[in-house]
Amino acid sequence: MIYKRSSQLFSEAKKVIPGGVNSPVRAFKAVGGEPVFIERAKGAYLYDEDGNKLIDYINSWGPLILGHAHKPVLDAVIEKAKKGTSFGTPTELETKIAELAVKMVPNIDKIRMVNSGTEACMSAVRLARGFTGKEKIIKFAGCYHGHSDSFLIQAGSGAMTFGTPNSPGVTQGTAKDTLLAKYNDLENVKELVEANKDEIACIILEPVAGNMGCIPPVKGFLEGLRKICDETGILLVFDEVMTGFRQAAGGVQERLGVNADIVCFGKVIGGGLPVGAFAARNEIMNHLAPDGPVYQAGTLSGNPLAMAAGFAMLTELHDNLEIFESIDKKTEYLHKGMDKVLNEAGVSFSINRIGSMISVHFGKEPVTDFQSSVRSASTGKFNKFFHGLLENGIYIAPSAFETWFISEALSYDDLDKTIEEVGKVAETL
Ligand SMILES: *Cc1c(COP(=O)(O)O)cnc(C)c1O
Repeated sequence: MIYKRSSQLFSEAKKVIPGGVNSPVRAFKAVGGEPVFIERAKGAYLYDEDGNKLIDYINSWGPLILGHAHKPVLDAVIEKAKKGTSFGTPTELETKIAELAVKMVPNIDKIRMVNSGTEACMSAVRLARGFTGKEKIIKFAGCYHGHSDSFLIQAGSGAMTFGTPNSPGVTQGTAKDTLLAKYNDLENVKELVEANKDEIACIILEPVAGNMGCIPPVKGFLEGLRKICDETGILLVFDEVMTGFRQAAGGVQERLGVNADIVCFGKVIGGGLPVGAFAARNEIMNHLAPDGPVYQAGTLSGNPLAMAAGFAMLTELHDNLEIFESIDKKTEYLHKGMDKVLNEAGVSFSINRIGSMISVHFGKEPVTDFQSSVRSASTGKFNKFFHGLLENGIYIAPSAFETWFISEALSYDDLDKTIEEVGKVAETL
């Protein structure tokens, strides 16, 4: 394929935008090469600035569960825009989307809208601290909760109690309040809780991890965390920015039957516009301003265009629950097909999947946490895999640490074409 215009646009972008992108992973640094500039998209396909057509497995990193430019969502936004784009006052639609979300998601009474997943997680942690009066949090290596300071922490080797920042600009003071645990390792969490008794406000995690590849929780992991939290008064925060309204109408809480105390949303809830949200039962949410002392605000929070897109998206899902089964089946079909052709090609690999999230890892060992994900990525095969697929019109995320998001717009023909190309690329690995 030819990427002449994309390449030109990237050179121009780099002069005025850091790295040429407004979010780092878009720059293709992990896989090499230059990013593809997209001109438009429809359904399962992206059309780039050079006229190439690509089958999309990213779907704007998750939000577009029904595919690109989905008509009911587009229509809702266009109609809303004609009436004005933002008022900075309450609007009826905010109540309607809140009612719908509370109906779809188990175990929540109230929800507050923000503008991104980052904001949702940042606010959820502040609320947890305000509610419990404790300062420390436990997060898991490899889980991403947006780019606010508390979450950009990695453990110093051997030091489990005190984190060290892994981005310049994050202070030691902030880092020391974030304790780092190993995903899928309940004993590790128990030790951390024991060593920091009565200091921990919350445990935050992706209940299905999607930012180190797709890593489902092992049996008993979420239940075990729930038990620890019940015994200690620590709040359990599910970051469902990726999984909310995707793993089921009610997210992972519904799919795996474990309740969280606070839930964060983003991605699907905005239908492709910038929306995040966090939600909990009344007892917790009533601590939030203006009812309570925990401050949180936003000039454009709940703005009409974003709410119109989100409401249309949630309505589509709520009224057509069979979509969840359908995307799960498509993902399973893709899994089985890729499994077959990768085996035939004789490469060492593993595929992780739950619901409509799936990732392919190269290497012999199963990928169950951040360390095993890093080891599998270090085989170096992913980059060749990525570029091989891109060259043949299949667009997956440009990093071995990302999940593929299956949309309902993908047809079985698209999946067959993908499996065929995966097979051909695998022969070259
Ligand atoms: C994408 C994501 C975020 C951050 O959301 P933004 O809208 O990019 O700020 C937080 N948590 C998880 C699990 C995510 O996948």
